[in-house]
Amino acid sequence: MKRRLKFVVQEHHASHLHWDFRLEIGGTLKSWAVPKGPSLDPASKRLAVQVPDHALSYLTFEGVLPEGTYGAGKVYRWDTGTFEPETDDPAAAWRAGALRFRLEGERLRGRWRLFRMKGREERGRPLWLLQKVDDEFAVAGHAAEVIGEEKRPKASAKKTTKKRKTS
Ligand code: MN
Repeated sequence: MKRRLKFVVQEHHASHLHWDFRLEIGGTLKSWAVPKGPSLDPASKRLAVQVPDHALSYLTFEGVLPEGTYGAGKVYRWDTGTFEPETDDPAAAWRAGALRFRLEGERLRGRWRLFRMKGREERGRPLWLLQKVDDEFAVAGHAAEVIGEEKRPKASAKKTTKKRKTS
């Protein structure tokens, strides 16, 4: 019997909030940073910036990456579960820039695809798109829920505080 592979999605409150999408491929976690987070809407293709592989220990990581280190900020485990590639060689599919797979998590379920945009990159990092395949787990208009409580103060938040003080 084939061993069950895992995935994890971390909500990462770094200088810019993003979701780290990680799939267990070839004994490591192939990783993407998804600025808007995964969407269950097949009509919403989400930009997914390829980032360096992470160790399998990140499957359970949750906590704070300290100030002064790369990606400083809080990391929440947004979702985790099983990852089932639709091919026997997901590493080759990753290299080819076209992955199809099934997820069985709490938030993300059903069929998905990740595909690399030819010739597109951002500071040397290939750009991919993450897309829900239309199935019984698809939800029109869905956007990733932010579960982290601590957000960095923004200019707009300060204005709201001022308004409250004067009222
Ligand atoms: Mn990150």
